[in-house]
Formats: sequence, structure tokens, C-alpha cells
Amino acid sequence: MSSNSRVYGIVPSKRLGRSLGVSPIPFKTCTYSCVYCQLGRTTNFTVKRQTFFPLKVFEEELKGFVKRHRYDFDVVSIVGEGEPTLYTPLDALIDLCKSITGKPVVLITNGSLFWSEKVRKEAKLSDIIMPTLSAWDEKSFRTIHKPHKNLSFQKVFEGLKKFRREYSGEIWLEVMLVKGLNDFALEELKEKISQVESDRVYVNVPVRPPAEGWVEPPDEETIEKAKELFNAASIETPAASRFIAAGEGIDAVLNVIKRHPMNEEEVRDLLTSQKIDPKPVLEKLRSCKNVKIIEYSGRRYYRYTTAE
Ligand code: SF4
Repeated sequence: MSSNSRVYGIVPSKRLGRSLGVSPIPFKTCTYSCVYCQLGRTTNFTVKRQTFFPLKVFEEELKGFVKRHRYDFDVVSIVGEGEPTLYTPLDALIDLCKSITGKPVVLITNGSLFWSEKVRKEAKLSDIIMPTLSAWDEKSFRTIHKPHKNLSFQKVFEGLKKFRREYSGEIWLEVMLVKGLNDFALEELKEKISQVESDRVYVNVPVRPPAEGWVEPPDEETIEKAKELFNAASIETPAASRFIAAGEGIDAVLNVIKRHPMNEEEVRDLLTSQKIDPKPVLEKLRSCKNVKIIEYSGRRYYRYTTAE
């Protein structure tokens, strides 16, 4: 097991319980470069779908993970280091996850490619889809997501609505609220949200270090107002539970932070659970060129990086 595992571990999630993460794309390969992205700025900007890794890799890693950690998780989440619908054949990957684990599969996506019939057809096999809707027009779309030049708000929004009409599984919409960018347009967002007819709506705010240092969460009052208006639940508080990662020691930490920055407490907890002394690993992380240390909201975070 290396720090490049595609099946990277169990991440505690407020919405999903214990979620086994599968990442089908290389680091920061995305159709957007959102200002709030917890992974930093997008380094591989694309809308071209590819088989970035052969299915065999996922099959071997899933079987290996289940053998070592049993079935101690609630769902498999296809998510990771960028936009997972860029992976094809996504339907075969979803099928594989289901047949090996027997668990429901959740696709966490920015929803930017549902205008493509092929993407809609492949994504349909998931049990739950969690797309993003944080903009309400072209200007807000460009400011918040900094999308690939081939994408427009209307194209993405119409694609999402089309997918809703064709898909019989659950859609859990996520609205990321950012101070000064969309927290003043709750009525406009509400109108767009209602058109999607999702099964659930979640309000999220940047709780981990964002790509752009100036990004801030809205104030509490606005978050509460948004929840009420959208009839939404909130996920801004991180789940209090333990990470279980593929690999050991520094490899385990790298496997998680490539997809999910961790604060120092979470790193210590993960290493202690592996019966590894956190001190030397933390020292190694601090001098590792692929790790960026960021102080955010009074906490020290470890984030994977290639270019910054
Ligand atoms: S938040 Fe998601 S969609 Fe936005 S840049 Fe990051 S990985 Fe891409």
C-alpha cells in the first residue's frame, strides 16, 4: 500500500456516516477551480473524460481494503482529488464498488458535466448523487467556481435539471455559502434550488483551509437564514469521528490529505490508532515538499500540494 492508493480510507462524514473513499482521478484534476476548494487551486483543468486508472487497480485495492478492515463502513463514496465524473467508464466503476463491498455508492460531484448524455447514463447507477449548486447566474458561477472555459452556468444548470428528470435515486444538493460571494443572494439561490427538485439540501461553509486565502464563511445568522429558506440541514461542523486510511504512518496521512486536509489533532488520532508515535511523522510532514501547513480558524492543517 502506498500514498497513491485510489481506495484511500474511511472518512467520517456527517451526512454519510463512515464513508469509504474511492478516488478515480489524479490530484486536482477538475472542471472548476473553486475559491473555497479545500485541496487548493486546480492544476489540471479539463472537461475531457478519461480512464485515468484501469478498473483492475480499483478491484485489487477494494478487495485488499475490505480484507484488512472488513466492512466497517456505511457507504462507498466516489470522490477525491477533483471532479469524479471526469472518469470513464464511471458505470463500471460504480458496479465494481457495489459488487465488492455490497454497500450503497454515493457520487460526490460538482455536477458540471450532466449536460452530457453519456455522463448522465453512467452516473445513474449511483444510489445517491451529491452535486453542488452555489451560484445563481453566470457572474456568480464564474466568481465562485472559476470554471473551465467550455462551461457556462446555463449549460451546467440545465444539465442538472435534466439529470433529475431521468434519475430515480436520491439527489442531495450542496450549497456552499461564501461570505460576500453568494450569502447576499439567498432568494436567488432558493429559486434555483427549487427548480432542481432534489431530495435533500445541505448548507455548507468553508471549514477547512480554502484555495483562496481571503475566503470566509458567512456569519451564523446568515447560515441559519439559508437553512430555513432552503429547508436545508447544515454540515458546517466536521463530524467527530476517526479517519481510517489505506497505508501506514506518513503514507496513511498522505493518502487522506490528498483528498481531505486534516488538522493536527486528526493526524495524531489517525497515527495513534495505528499504534505509531505521531511526533516523528509530524516532523517528516512538516519538512515534506508535498505538504503545505496552513493555519485556519485557529487550527493547524496539513494539505497535500504539487504546485504551490
Ligand atoms: S471544490 Fe470540488 S469542484 Fe471545486 S475545485 Fe475543488 S474539487 Fe473541483
